Amino acid sequence: MKPIRFDGQVAIVTGAGAGLGRSHALELARRGAKVVVNDLGGAVDGTGGSISAAQAVADEIIAAGGEAMAHGANVTSPEDVADMVETARQRWGKIDILINNAGILRDKSFSKMSLEDFRTVVEVHLMGSVTCTKAVWEGMKEAGYGRIVMTSSSSGIYGNFGQSNYGAAKMALVGLMNVLHLEGRKYNIRVNTLSPTAYTRMTEGLIPPEAGQLMTPESVTAGLIALVGEDAPERTILAAGAGGYAAAKIYETPGVYLPPEQQTGEHVAAALARITDPAGQEEYEEGGRQTLKFLGHAAAHFGIK
Ligand code: NAD
Repeated sequence: MKPIRFDGQVAIVTGAGAGLGRSHALELARRGAKVVVNDLGGAVDGTGGSISAAQAVADEIIAAGGEAMAHGANVTSPEDVADMVETARQRWGKIDILINNAGILRDKSFSKMSLEDFRTVVEVHLMGSVTCTKAVWEGMKEAGYGRIVMTSSSSGIYGNFGQSNYGAAKMALVGLMNVLHLEGRKYNIRVNTLSPTAYTRMTEGLIPPEAGQLMTPESVTAGLIALVGEDAPERTILAAGAGGYAAAKIYETPGVYLPPEQQTGEHVAAALARITDPAGQEEYEEGGRQTLKFLGHAAAHFGIK
């Protein structure tokens, strides 16, 4: 097996003062990367903040013989993020890897959720990832190399009660990956998504501590490493937890075509079983495939070549 190494490479890991981000930062450094350990150092709901969490992880990396710097940027602040990226560039020259991992929770049923709690969660997960990615994107394009990971969640991909804000933000990151994958691939920028499950402070009330012994951040980090090496895949949603690794995928069914006189709500409703039948479903590599499918049908209908 070819070892995955990051010697000479520079990685930014957001939210790396604890949990999954800390584990990602330690492993990237152990495999040779110089690591920017970013963390705002707040509580699970995003309140408060201190550099001490990020500093402790950077110190741990340095004590083990690696290279690291701590940065307390709030990922939602373009000024903070610009300062973090500029500081890293001045010290190490470039950014090869960005792990968008920082996140918070403000769970409530949709009825009880304030718009402020919705916006704050979308701001940290979606706009935080956008802000950090934007700050490294041009540099990666110029260098002709980049590896970027979004951190999604089963809560977004499939839904979880009480997490409308978090689920919406986490699925938005899949959309962001899909587009950046298309825009980045000719510059050798590969964008992937991790959907983790691990025992951290974020899940300690949900996962029993005994199960936590297997559901380690380190088991998820193994998946992360596979997403950011030189031979990384592209546009993959890797689900990882407890040593299990799987891919989450979105498929489109062949569906049905109804003649003009049957293009009514009632006829579509009557055809739903056929429309949702998974037989022959396909994974599309870009949105244009869906447009072309329908356009192709319309063109064939009128005999247009
Ligand atoms: P965690 O709370 O231990 O770590 C998140 C870190 O992000 C914290 O250290 C926090 O200070 C930092 N952070 C929060 N807001 C920030 C901001 N604005 N700027 C900079 N740093 C900020 O939780 P975790 O379980 O390690 O979660 C890591 C990521 O994985 C999150 O995006 C989370 O949504 C996602 N995730 C985790 C699980 C799981 O099972 N633990 C499941 C699905 C998704």
